[in-house]
Amino acid sequence: MGDKMEFPINRMRRLRKSPQIRNIMRETTLRKDNFIYPMFVKEDLKKGQIEPIKTMPGENRYSLSCAVEKAKILEEKGLSSILLFGMPSKKDDCGSSAFDPDGIVQRAVKQIKEETDLVVMTDVCLCQYTTHGHCGIINNERVLNDESLENLARTALSHAEAGADVVAPSDMMDGRVESIRKMLDLNEYEDTIIMSYAAKYASSFYSPFREAACCAPSFGDRKTYQMDPANAKEALREAELDIMEGADILMVKPALGYLDIIKSIKEEFKMPTAAYNVSGEYSMIKAGIEAGYLTEDSIFETILSIKRAGADLIISNFTPYFLNIL
Ligand SMILES: [Zn+2]
Repeated sequence: MGDKMEFPINRMRRLRKSPQIRNIMRETTLRKDNFIYPMFVKEDLKKGQIEPIKTMPGENRYSLSCAVEKAKILEEKGLSSILLFGMPSKKDDCGSSAFDPDGIVQRAVKQIKEETDLVVMTDVCLCQYTTHGHCGIINNERVLNDESLENLARTALSHAEAGADVVAPSDMMDGRVESIRKMLDLNEYEDTIIMSYAAKYASSFYSPFREAACCAPSFGDRKTYQMDPANAKEALREAELDIMEGADILMVKPALGYLDIIKSIKEEFKMPTAAYNVSGEYSMIKAGIEAGYLTEDSIFETILSIKRAGADLIISNFTPYFLNIL
């Protein structure tokens, strides 16, 4: 008996032998319709105008007309859905331009629904619409929970009235999903889908987005409503409550540092699960590639890890990249 018999019977390398074998053995694949493209629509920009976002190379803020054009171009490349963020020209203490039927997001939804077949999702929050930049109404520098729910629900309703397929509350107030569900149902929008930012962490990876959307809070931080990055079990409680309140899709934000959260929420609840590949995750990879430290392949590997963790949907500024390569 030679040495050969003692060698393990199992050789994992058999299934990696050629590109064809690797292809048929691949467990996780990315599809174009896994992607949701986040877009910033700015009211102050004139027709035909775009504004590059310095902290997010390659990404822009769009005027209404350019947002519609961009949506059409991406749809032709195979895009299925977009998530709209509004940047209004007017702000006040309670964020009333968020639920203005003639607001920037409402107009963008209307026009994009008219001119494309995209699934249109909207971010529902007040921070871009309030002078203080917090996600709810404030009193004595405290963000009030219950008092904020009415305005959040009105915002969601105004998006549904404009034609949004999905409303996505990102504020992290307690009870917002229930308030929004009730408001929608009361107004015969029972088929409007709610994608809740169920586990949204107070993350430093949002900082390029703040430059993009100009919504950094004028005092304090968001730690009294967004989650502590150290907590995983709490994310399950947040998700469970959102399901009980009527959420259709759960979201985890950010994605990359929170793959364990995506995995446990998907496994625990078996709900459609989205993950937000946030601005900081985008910009650090772009910067790495720009500096020559990383290659473009790192984009694919990163996004694949989010899908592999359990995300069905991925909100990412890399969406146009994937529409080109998939
Ligand atoms: Zn907010």
